[in-house]
Amino acid sequence: MTLSAARPVRRALTTEAGTALPAFVDHHVHLHLIDPAALAARGIAGVVDLGGDPVALARRPAGLPRVAYAGAFLTAPGGYPQGRSWAPDAIVRTVTDASRHPGVDDGAQTAVDAQADAGATVIKVALHADAGPVMSDEVLGAIVAAAGDRGLSVVAHAQGSGQVDRAIAFGVAALAHTPFDAPVSRRTLSRAVAAGQVWISTLDIHRGAARARAIANLRAFAARGGRVLYGTDLGNGPLPVGVNRRELIALHDAGVRGDALVAALTDPWPHVAPDAAVSTFVPGPAPIDPDEVPGWLSRGTVVVTEELTHVD
Ligand SMILES: [Zn+2]
Repeated sequence: MTLSAARPVRRALTTEAGTALPAFVDHHVHLHLIDPAALAARGIAGVVDLGGDPVALARRPAGLPRVAYAGAFLTAPGGYPQGRSWAPDAIVRTVTDASRHPGVDDGAQTAVDAQADAGATVIKVALHADAGPVMSDEVLGAIVAAAGDRGLSVVAHAQGSGQVDRAIAFGVAALAHTPFDAPVSRRTLSRAVAAGQVWISTLDIHRGAARARAIANLRAFAARGGRVLYGTDLGNGPLPVGVNRRELIALHDAGVRGDALVAALTDPWPHVAPDAAVSTFVPGPAPIDPDEVPGWLSRGTVVVTEELTHVD
């Protein structure tokens, strides 16, 4: 198996021989539910927080992992995830008014501005029709437009009948989870791919039938050329803090293999350019057998790029 992004290197500090890859990003985490201190040693250089307190996130000190964030979930009153034990009031903001004027209580523009002013680089909306009320089309459209005016794209938790189609129709750029509650139709898959929508994997939060549906949906999306991002929903249940080998194996099972698997791990989304100051170091050469690539990638650790010397 040759991985086109892989470079044989030696670590200056330890003289250990191995392979360099671009920095790995977990594109779906909740920092308030985990201790992120161990992430870098276990291969994760960057995270995207998709639902947290925008004030606390803005105050985070610099360092590893690099953090991009959405700030609060924007949702309808009584809608997901309001009232969940893991979702304190500070991480949920209700929007009832499609107003594009700033300073309107519960207005779309006001809610987006509050996240953007706190440093958010993406906006999260909850479209979970199986867990309470969802926002109207007018409010969703106004949020996407307001985010666009601030240079931000929108990521949705889309669950329940018709919500994936609604996200696509209103220009939602990313799904926070591979759809798992029902098979996604071919027509919807084609529309998602044509729109350039990105899907964040989060396969390993599921077991049984939901996991099988998510893997089948992601396989179909990837086979049509859809852009897939590695993401775990870290903080949701007992997941390993670091690169999640089971998530990588599930992606591999979904046909996201080799270079595509590396691309899902190293995609800079929602940023445009990757962070070149740090790299992933994996001991030893990339395996010949493609089935061994997920396990091998899971042994990566984050190093300062300057610490690596190329070898031939
Ligand atoms: Zn989440």
